Amino acid sequence: MKKIFVTIRIIVILAMCLTNIASAAKEINIVTTTTDLMDLVKMVGGKRVKVVSLSHGDQSGCAGVEPRPSMVIYLRSADMLVRIGMDYDHWADSLIDASRNSKIVYGANGYVDVSVGINRLEVPKGKVDASMGHIHLYGNPHYWLDPHNAKVITKNIYEGLCRISPKNSNCFKENRDEFLLKIDMAIQEWSKKLKIFQGKKFVSYHTSWVYFAKCFGLNIVGTLEPKSGIPPSPAHLRGLIKMMKKEGISMILHENYYPQRTTEMVSKETGAKILILPVSVGGLNGKIEDYFSLFNYIVNKITEKESKNCE
Ligand SMILES: [Zn+2]
Repeated sequence: MKKIFVTIRIIVILAMCLTNIASAAKEINIVTTTTDLMDLVKMVGGKRVKVVSLSHGDQSGCAGVEPRPSMVIYLRSADMLVRIGMDYDHWADSLIDASRNSKIVYGANGYVDVSVGINRLEVPKGKVDASMGHIHLYGNPHYWLDPHNAKVITKNIYEGLCRISPKNSNCFKENRDEFLLKIDMAIQEWSKKLKIFQGKKFVSYHTSWVYFAKCFGLNIVGTLEPKSGIPPSPAHLRGLIKMMKKEGISMILHENYYPQRTTEMVSKETGAKILILPVSVGGLNGKIEDYFSLFNYIVNKITEKESKNCE
C-alpha cells in the first residue's frame, strides 16, 4: 500500500514539473496592428513572445488595410492585441469582433492601445465632421515617428505583458530598461546628425511627419493633400507651388506607399528634391528590419540628400 502511495506521489510531482516546464516554455501569442509595434513588442517581450503584425510596413493604416481571413485566425489565438489607436487601425475593429476572443477585446487584460499617455498633436478643435478629411479625427496618429514616444509605447506594452504574464515581469522590465538606454543613445545621435536642419522648412505628401518634425526641430509648411486623406486638387497644388517658390522650399518628404506622380510634378515646378521614405519597419521591400533601422534610414536620407544639394 505504502509503495503504491509513493509511486502516485512521484507521478504527481513529475506531472507538476512537466506542466511547469511546458508553461515556462510556452510563448505568449501577440498580434499587433503594425510592424513598428511588432518590433517594439519583441524588444520588451524578448524570447517569451511570438508576435505577428496584421499589416505590412509598406501599407498605410490611414488608407486602410484589406481584411483577410488569416488575420482573424491570428487574433483568435492571441493572448494580447497591441494597437496604435487614434483611429489609425480602425480597420482592425471588425476583425477583433470576428475573432470572438474575449482576451483581446477593449477593457480586457490583453487589450493594449499604446496611444495612452501620448502627447497628441493636431487634435481637431470643436465639431469634427467629414469635411475635415476622413482620417486623423482624434489627432494625428503618426506618433511612432517621434522616437521619444517609443518610451510611452513600450511602457504600455510592458504593463500589458505584466498583466497577462506577471511571473515574467522582471524579465520584461530588464528588456525595456535595455531598450530605453539604447533609444536615448540613438536619439542623441540622430539629433546630432539633424542639427543643421533645425528650422528647415519642408512639405510632405501626407501629414505623417508632425511628430518627427517636432522631435528634431524641422518645420512642415504644407502638404500635397489639402486635408488628411483627401487627394491633392489642382487649386490646392497651385497655392502650394506658389508658396514653395516664395519660401524657397527645397525638400519634399514623400511616404513611399502614396502615388508619386503629383509629387514629381510639384518637384519639377519648384525644383524641390523628393525624398521617398518608408514610415514603418519593413517599409522598404522588407529591408527596414527594426525601429532603429527605420530612423537610421530616414535620418541618413535627409542628411545625404542635403550634402548632395550642397555639391
Ligand atoms: Zn495619416
